[in-house]
Amino acid sequence: MEGTFESFKEKLKENNEFYFYGIGGQGVVTGSTLFLEGLSDSNWHLTGVYSPGAERRGKPISCFVGLYNDPKKTKSYEMLVEKDVLVVFDPASVGKEQLLNGLREDGIVLFNTPKSPEELVKENGKLGYFNVATVDASGIFSEVFNEAFGRATTFEEIRPNVPTIAALFNITGLASLETFLKIIESKWGGRIGDINKQAAIFAYNKALVIESSKKGMDTTIIEMERTPVDELNEIALCFPTEGVGGPTGLWALIQPKIKEELCNNCGTCFIYCPDNCIIWTKGKEGVPKIDLRYCKGCGICAEECKQDAIEMVEVKR
Ligand code: SF4
Ligand code: SF4
Repeated sequence: MEGTFESFKEKLKENNEFYFYGIGGQGVVTGSTLFLEGLSDSNWHLTGVYSPGAERRGKPISCFVGLYNDPKKTKSYEMLVEKDVLVVFDPASVGKEQLLNGLREDGIVLFNTPKSPEELVKENGKLGYFNVATVDASGIFSEVFNEAFGRATTFEEIRPNVPTIAALFNITGLASLETFLKIIESKWGGRIGDINKQAAIFAYNKALVIESSKKGMDTTIIEMERTPVDELNEIALCFPTEGVGGPTGLWALIQPKIKEELCNNCGTCFIYCPDNCIIWTKGKEGVPKIDLRYCKGCGICAEECKQDAIEMVEVKR
């Protein structure tokens, strides 16, 4: 079945916990933030927590988002015990059974994959206990990118987050396409905004869904590996090491440029960069250097620089 699936909305309860999973660079944090922004005008009490550390270099990234009727729940350590909705941005992780751990029976799982939900259920019978949705978010993004830039994307340039979230809004009915497009517009202008809006429109209309077909899941298989919330909130300052994904900066559409005449070498950008790709040494003269091989173009450094010494410029390819 294509498009909105009415019974999916009924699966949403008074309190809903979403788990977003992907590999650093696929925009998991940005995707879950966009999701929260799409709900900002709703009556839900919202909370979001993401796993700390570098978002890049092949590292698995997970984000938890809670939608609650009861405001106290947003401060509760009880949250994140059970997932109601699982969203997998990484197409290579579709077969990872451990991701299903903690997903409640009859919960919803959305995969970024070109496969249909029926194909996935056929390949992995355990998926039959859940409501399964799929969207080819990577394929859609590549198609739109190709049209805009006149060439195919490299693997590293593919950003499935916006089309995946668009599909999620469709299947859950939590926000309209119009609302999501406005959020994209307020975040990205120009060609980058256009690419993301186009990808969102395609994905919103192409999500495929299938209802759970089984009941009575053996709960002994879903013991959950749980990270305490207070640990998730810790700020991680670490030094870069290359992950299994290797250099991943190619998928940045904008990257920072330091205006040397304005920079006072304070190091703020170094502290805030989530990928540790700003090279700065306390007391050393000159301005920080940016390792563009790993810079994903998130713009946090430019946002945090008090000297306005960082300009985000479009990457010319
Ligand atoms: S935050 Fe701005 S002023 Fe400080 S080191 Fe970075 S670029 Fe320079
Ligand atoms: S844009 Fe700035 S903060 Fe973001 S990854 Fe690149 S250097 Fe780091």
